[in-house]
Amino acid sequence: MLSALITSSSLAIASLLIGFALFVAWWQFARRTHALIWAFSFMAAAIGHGVRIVGGPLSGHSDLLAMLACHASVASFAFLAWGFRLRAARDNHLTFACWGVATAALLYCYFIIGGAEGRMLNRIITAAGDAAMVGIIIVTIRATSRRALALRFLFAGYGAYICSVAIAAWLARDGGLIGGPMFFAVLSIGTPTGMIATGLLTLLIVAADLAEDLRRQAIADPLTGLLNRRGLEQQVAPVFASGRAVRRPLVVVLADIDHFKSINDRLGHAAGDAVIRAFAAHLHSAGRKGDLVARIGGEEFAMVLPGREIHEAVALVEDLREGVPAALSGIASADAVTASFGIALVGDGETFEATLGRADSALYRSKKAGRNAVTLEPQPELARAV
Ligand code: GH3
Ligand code: MG
Ligand code: MG
Repeated sequence: MLSALITSSSLAIASLLIGFALFVAWWQFARRTHALIWAFSFMAAAIGHGVRIVGGPLSGHSDLLAMLACHASVASFAFLAWGFRLRAARDNHLTFACWGVATAALLYCYFIIGGAEGRMLNRIITAAGDAAMVGIIIVTIRATSRRALALRFLFAGYGAYICSVAIAAWLARDGGLIGGPMFFAVLSIGTPTGMIATGLLTLLIVAADLAEDLRRQAIADPLTGLLNRRGLEQQVAPVFASGRAVRRPLVVVLADIDHFKSINDRLGHAAGDAVIRAFAAHLHSAGRKGDLVARIGGEEFAMVLPGREIHEAVALVEDLREGVPAALSGIASADAVTASFGIALVGDGETFEATLGRADSALYRSKKAGRNAVTLEPQPELARAV
């Protein structure tokens, strides 16, 4: 009796603390709604355990309070599933349908069936409702990484345990194979572990999502959505790792809008930004899977084109250059906007910085030649031979 009281009390306090931690996480970090919904999940669990304390040993095992505790358990799992669905930007029709059915079934068992059978059915319905929510969570987590797969397995284990609680409730029916204490033993084995593990998992997910957001922001250019210089360097790093010879042909292109200062001066900074965005979209539209496009300066962009022979890359960049005035024509300007390009093919063992430097020399020569031009930088070996 006392141990049940202690277990329920510690569970209520632990749920409350986790709920509070999730609430703080929601408040402090980006206010993602799913974190708030998860906080509600643990608050509901805390209420459930609180009700169990009052309704169990303290008030002679009230059926009403036991039924309310069952509702709190289903609500807690429903909030949990709801949060996972929100995080994955998926609808919650099934979550709410399962929640509604479980709630109606719990009320039916209490008001219509009642007695020992009603109690037993309420336990089974609660476990079935909880397991259904865990099922929803499992199908919601996309197994896109090993971490996500591990999460799925963890929830599958939790779901299996909850099903075993339903079976224990059935076996503990009047005249069943096991007695009430055995049912509570099964219930007590996994409930604290499951609740604390789920709480830690949800908190870790909120933290990991936040870290991922910050990582993305650190490598993205906010104006165009392209990679920034740091992002480009990070992405190309594995290809250029430790000065290893770059095997496949790899072309680096630098692009710079011509006379951009005068665009800013004539049309204003906002129009200048619009030109930068349109130019970025133009470059991006020419890329294929595996190409990298980055904004590495004010109106200076870099492209890394793997797997293209140099003549293909030159033809692509020529098309891009020709398409610039049309692509940027929608932005209020009487004169056509043009851009200059420099191209360099990565030499064996050459670093990214060195190739970028050669592409920059080519770009400089395009500018010198009157702008609106494409220049191919010779290979370093050839340059030395000249
Ligand atoms: P050139 O043909 O030689 O390239 O001449 P330019 O006028 O384009 O010269 P440059 O490339 O040096 O111009 C860079 C200008 O871009 C200077 C700066 O005011 C402007 N700029 C840099 N970042 C931004 C930005 O985020 N938005 C806007 N609107 N302008 C920017
Ligand atoms: Mg410029
Ligand atoms: Mg520039």
